[in-house]
Amino acid sequence: MKSWTPDSWRGYPIRQQPQYPNADQLAQVEAQLTKMPPLVFAQEARDLREQLGRAAQGKAFLLQGGDCAESFSDFSANSIRDTFKVLLQMAVVLTYSGRKPVVKVARMAGQFAKPRSADLETQDGVSLPSYRGDIINQLDFTEAARTPDPHRMLQAYHQSTATLNLVRAFATGGLADLHKVNQWNLDFAEASPLRERYLAVAERIQDALAFMEVCGVNSDNTPPLHATSLFTSHEALLLNYEQALTRRDSLTGDWYNCSAHMLWIGERTRQLDEAHVEFFRGIHNPIGVKVGPGMGEDELIRLIDALNPDNIPGRLTLITRMGADKLANKLPLLARKVKAEGRQVVWSSDPMHGNTVTSSNGYKTRDFNAILTEINEFFAALRSENCEPGGIHLEMTGQHVTECTGGAYQLSDEDLANCYRTQCDPRLNGDQVLELAFCIADKLRV
Ligand code: PEP
Ligand code: MN
Repeated sequence: MKSWTPDSWRGYPIRQQPQYPNADQLAQVEAQLTKMPPLVFAQEARDLREQLGRAAQGKAFLLQGGDCAESFSDFSANSIRDTFKVLLQMAVVLTYSGRKPVVKVARMAGQFAKPRSADLETQDGVSLPSYRGDIINQLDFTEAARTPDPHRMLQAYHQSTATLNLVRAFATGGLADLHKVNQWNLDFAEASPLRERYLAVAERIQDALAFMEVCGVNSDNTPPLHATSLFTSHEALLLNYEQALTRRDSLTGDWYNCSAHMLWIGERTRQLDEAHVEFFRGIHNPIGVKVGPGMGEDELIRLIDALNPDNIPGRLTLITRMGADKLANKLPLLARKVKAEGRQVVWSSDPMHGNTVTSSNGYKTRDFNAILTEINEFFAALRSENCEPGGIHLEMTGQHVTECTGGAYQLSDEDLANCYRTQCDPRLNGDQVLELAFCIADKLRV
């Protein structure tokens, strides 16, 4: 195999990249980014890999979630806080029910670049480059806004830095106190139209905390009850940016992509012998790859071997995104093959991207029931093959948006207009995603 360098991907075919009009400007920005401090450290990435190694064996569960696309204009402490809070609330429910540690990984602090189904978008006879995420261009439909600007990479870097700084403060500064987090869950359950279903679990967790308190185990003397760790992740799509933040670890001499703890390859850029797989094979972070309904069994084994040739548990997470109507036919075959070939992977379910539909009134949406159905089938398929359902990957926000239909509050197509704010794909809102956590908890308990 050819030797790897952070820029060896440049010798391969590549998809889903912007056409920057000015190559000198691009090179200048890349040089600037190369000098910036790393966002995360190699040892943190190794810690995450170890924790995911336990998820591969069914001894931990991965909870990964956040916006489809972060945005420059919606950047605020409140939205970061709300997503952080709801991830913690979900983690408490899943930990209690599953009796195993939950590894929390946010789609945050770098989730800016988006693959698109077409290079051009046409409106009223005018064609312009598609919006590819705030790190590349702007959503407004004007030529200036849609022209890719490399300087946006610097803004994305700085926003990621500020986001990560706040997340790190929240994780250790008291916001993650388990007593507080479960009180939010009690408040959620009290208000829910399906109160009885959720209140019982939240009350049992409250009892467990009260019992520990009596035994002398409390937030003051037990750091895990008071603080937490939250890792970051994004789709490493824009390789100019990712390469610039890839650094050699002084301790091990290995290369790490220090733009996030975990990176994944999207469904549209996972071709063997192309640039993204080449880039990913050389970084030592834990990585993911999306697996859609078109994936073949042999193709999957070849991809696994390209990305994790030493078969290290926790190195590779397979994120299935098949659609509620397709998963039951596809996943058992893939899981059987991976198990028979002895490959170590974390199986995680993205129940969002295979279930995107257009509502009767024209919104890109997803229905809560389809999402839940895909999750249920994911658990059933893996268990039928004696494999471990190792995690879940969601597009979600802590805020009260109306982008997905259904859930306990029965959001209808008409409700979507109330607060439809996503830059790209529809997200579950705070109530819907917490409800989903209670439903997944039922699955984990068996
Ligand atoms: C995404 O996670 O936002 C995404 C584009 O997913 P996929 O690559 O699975 O389509
Ligand atoms: Mn998406």
